[in-house]
Amino acid sequence: MIIQLEEKLSEKGKENIQAKVNSIGYQTTEVKTQKSNYLVCIGKKEFDIRLIGSLDGVYDVHRVSDSYKLVSRKWKVGATRIDLGDRIIIGEGRLALMAGPCSIESEDQVQKVVTHLVENGVKIMRGGVFKPRSSPYAFRGMGMEGLKMFNRICRENGIKIISEVMQVSQIKEMHDYIDIYQVGARNSQNFNLLDALGGVDKPVLLKRGMSGTIYELLQSAEYIFSHGNEKLMLCERGIRTYETAYRNTFDLNAIPVLKEKTHLPVIADPSHGIGVRDYVAAISLAAVMAGADGIIIEIHPDPNSAISDSEQTLNFDESGHLFRKLKSTYEFLHKLN
Ligand code: PEP
Ligand code: MN
Repeated sequence: MIIQLEEKLSEKGKENIQAKVNSIGYQTTEVKTQKSNYLVCIGKKEFDIRLIGSLDGVYDVHRVSDSYKLVSRKWKVGATRIDLGDRIIIGEGRLALMAGPCSIESEDQVQKVVTHLVENGVKIMRGGVFKPRSSPYAFRGMGMEGLKMFNRICRENGIKIISEVMQVSQIKEMHDYIDIYQVGARNSQNFNLLDALGGVDKPVLLKRGMSGTIYELLQSAEYIFSHGNEKLMLCERGIRTYETAYRNTFDLNAIPVLKEKTHLPVIADPSHGIGVRDYVAAISLAAVMAGADGIIIEIHPDPNSAISDSEQTLNFDESGHLFRKLKSTYEFLHKLN
């Protein structure tokens, strides 16, 4: 059960509600987010919910039997929308497009990508400066110096930035230079990082772990939400299976399942999801048809020279064509609905 408390409720009023909830055999955890205050109540006993709903200081109450609570659609039926400012909104009703290189490599590369995004009406650029790499000898990113350059060029052109944060100490230093923190697949269950991201006032895109289940992803999201940050979106980026014909198996099923289970926006990452350039467009279109609220893809002025994830990266012709197809597919789908 989740109880949303009235905004100006006194300590005494809150204690009264907690006492009532405890008396029916439920434990309470207090959650304060940037938007509201809640009591998340865990218990099994049957009771008449009107007992709680009628108490002074209760703004709203719902029974939520899922292990994840605040991110569940059972708590919030309407979709969450994330406002990045400058009329750039992520969530149901519009398709969010995000694109950029796997790694930020140089000023020339960022400038070329930004120009391509502006020409194609894409408002959010991705690019890693702290790169999780399987080998310690591989390029690990340009770090803060790269992020500052990335930020300067994007700001000059009205483009928003999403970039991966790998550890708690990077949250603060990245804060003023990004618009969305990305949590990568390898950190999907780094609970210390998730807790810390609950304390920031910027949106987070949380990726599914390579071997993570949908329920694990939802519970990871609950960590961030319950530590205070409601500006959250989830990302399907493919899982590890026995298949070897491509890098990962994009779990298309996850898109409608997540859309039904959570009110958070659901973003598809077909670049990592399949990991082979030639198939990225097909999987992107399939993800939109399955209900994704946005697509994040890897693009580069010269994909074959990309320092990381070259095999799954699209060039400007391929991505320009794909953006147009994605937009018309989304419009077509919404005319049907
Ligand atoms: C990336 O976005 O470049 C990345 C490393 O993604 P993932 O965490 O999904 O592997
Ligand atoms: Mn990548």
